[in-house]
Amino acid sequence: MLTRSKKLIRAKEYAKKAILSEIVAIRSSKELRKFLEHSQLNEQVASVVQVFAVELHATNATFPHLRTILSLLHGITDLVMNIPVRYAAHLSSALHFANLTSLSTTLPHSMIATLLHNHPRITTLVLGPCSTPRKCPLRAIQLPEASELSGPPGCLAGLVGNNPVREVTATYRGPRDAQYPLHLLFNFMPLNTSVNLTVLHVDFRPSDVDMLLRVAAAAPRLVSLKLTENIFLKPADHLKARLLWREPSKWVEAFNLLPCLQNLLLKTFHSLAYGADDEAETIRRWLSVVKPMGTHPHPALRHIVVWWSAEIEGGCLGVWDLVNGLWSRTYAATAEPGGGLDEAFV
Ligand SMILES: [Zn+2]
Repeated sequence: MLTRSKKLIRAKEYAKKAILSEIVAIRSSKELRKFLEHSQLNEQVASVVQVFAVELHATNATFPHLRTILSLLHGITDLVMNIPVRYAAHLSSALHFANLTSLSTTLPHSMIATLLHNHPRITTLVLGPCSTPRKCPLRAIQLPEASELSGPPGCLAGLVGNNPVREVTATYRGPRDAQYPLHLLFNFMPLNTSVNLTVLHVDFRPSDVDMLLRVAAAAPRLVSLKLTENIFLKPADHLKARLLWREPSKWVEAFNLLPCLQNLLLKTFHSLAYGADDEAETIRRWLSVVKPMGTHPHPALRHIVVWWSAEIEGGCLGVWDLVNGLWSRTYAATAEPGGGLDEAFV
């Protein structure tokens, strides 16, 4: 039988052979415990980690070691922390990572305010749902190096301002998020960023026929725009007759105000075409801007993806590209509900 000291020696030898990885993903309490054991026996196991992702779901298991592990990760630049709230109590305020530049977490926003305050070098921030979107505790947080923000619109309303934000994903992540109307964020005024916003992903309500005009006013130098009809904003059937892309004057006017726009992606639960039109005819209507001297091709548009009748990830998806001066559908797919087209919608 092995003595206790021999067991320890063997464990250390095993830990030395453990593969040192800059990227670590933890998805169970077993993986968490194993990583802690290796880290305690070989300090390199934790010190080489740059990207640490911990995603644990609520179970009967507990994760008492998480705080210890996080305290060992001195060199991480990227942290993904999707864990049940009850395991995160008193966790975030004590954490400090000198090199942290990217944070993605589903923790309540009230729990990460201090964490953000202690990490002003963050460039990329991804937030989960908010329980108080109209009074988000993060709205006054200063992130002077933030260039990429993703979260509910109400929470981003304050974070976007005065920071060098180039890429924004403003999408509803839960039913409470939708209590913050988009028109408060897109109020026909330029977003108050200190640089040009070039990439925007925003949820929309299809009956808001001014939505694209609002976006054009908020970020006129956009290069890529992704519009997704959110399940939490799904309108009643009686609104089907009035959809923003079926208001040609406002839709085309908005493209006119987005001269740098190269990529457009649109996902809707509704049918894209109307009347006798098909998808091709609808797209053709979008590709011209009306100027005082007549109709011209849009100066920048090169790539359009439309995903329509998208019920539970089914529907029709079409990809349109400008190739050698001619627009053509370069990819098309249909799927039954549950079939899934989301991988092609990027
Ligand atoms: Zn919030």
